Amino acid sequence: MTQTQSIIEKTEQYGAKNYHPLPIVISKAEGVWVTDPEGNKFMDMLSAYSAVNQGHRHPKIIQALKDQADRVTLTSRAFHNDQLAPWYEMICKISGKEMALPMNTGAEAVETAIKAARRWAYDVKGVEDGKAEIIACEGNFHGRTMTAVSLSSDAEYRRGFGPMLPGINIVPFGDLEALKNAITPNTAAFLIEPIQGEAGIIMPPKGFLKAARELCRENNVLFIADEIQCGLARTGKMFACEWEDVDPDMYILGKALGGGVFPISCVVADNEVLGVFNPGSHGSTFGGNPLACAVSIASMQVIQDENLTERSQELGTYFMDELKKIDHPVIKEVRGRGLFIGMELTEAARPYCEQLKELGLLCKETHDTVIRFAPPLIITKEELDWALERIHQVFTK
Ligand code: PLP
Repeated sequence: MTQTQSIIEKTEQYGAKNYHPLPIVISKAEGVWVTDPEGNKFMDMLSAYSAVNQGHRHPKIIQALKDQADRVTLTSRAFHNDQLAPWYEMICKISGKEMALPMNTGAEAVETAIKAARRWAYDVKGVEDGKAEIIACEGNFHGRTMTAVSLSSDAEYRRGFGPMLPGINIVPFGDLEALKNAITPNTAAFLIEPIQGEAGIIMPPKGFLKAARELCRENNVLFIADEIQCGLARTGKMFACEWEDVDPDMYILGKALGGGVFPISCVVADNEVLGVFNPGSHGSTFGGNPLACAVSIASMQVIQDENLTERSQELGTYFMDELKKIDHPVIKEVRGRGLFIGMELTEAARPYCEQLKELGLLCKETHDTVIRFAPPLIITKEELDWALERIHQVFTK
């Protein structure tokens, strides 16, 4: 039995079956490349769902981790630490918002956003206590906590986990009329992924984000952008909302905020919104810890210093154009922005992902029929050409 086989066997014996990974074990990684225990090399086309935008083990991020690990890793928020203040300043400058609130995982940041929106509705907008409503979009993915699954329209994400959180309305993604009809005087917020990632790289109709943002402004409803997956340079802009010049009331960020090295997430908004929190109303033992903040500062610095936004836009345009040229009857559509690309097939995508894996390319199907191509943004054109060769091989059979 190979090491890979025995690791997979043990994982299946002892681990809860809440994932269905491809049969590969990764034991080392660098840049866009990962290696299994037998020494086989693969190109990573998923980037841990966009958490590794900066590439695996970016040397500057790893250095920041090591340096901070030698100083202090956790203080809790009972005391100040010297990394949180510069982190606050940096994320506020990058997002153009006045305040940030750090958490650890994406789903926790979504929880934070919903709590902020509800409290804002009561304290600022004047909604009657207990009546606040949130509007979310069909096909959304905001994580796996009870709030996030309550927001979900996917029966499988919700099955067996009820009762759900009340006060949530779902509208079709990209349907302005439906959004208009769903807004009531009690609506606190409209929550949207500017491009839906887990749903299969689904783009809203052109102009929707801008119109929805205006509608929210007119109705005193917070426009909250979940950019956990599509933010931080992934789509060729720092934030996907920028594609329509939309300035949301709140961003929810995670994943690449920690460079794939250490979990950190946050919400950022202006004082009018995040000012609703007072001591004791929200928090997390590890939220804002100095190790995460040091890693996150380096992660944001890498995005800026290495022009990952421009790289994503340029290389994404090239890669998507090349993918669109592939003529094969099962390819229904290629869509996306920057290096955030979905190839929709007319049949299940998993067998194609398995074939690509055999050729050294790691992709993961999403929502059955879509292959997501989202490599680390430090990828080179030559490496993309290497990937294209393999993709051609699989789609010319
Ligand atoms: N929101 C979006 C848009 C996501 O893509 C994800 C994760 O894929 C989450 C929230 C949840 O983040 P986490 O898995 O870190 O809880």
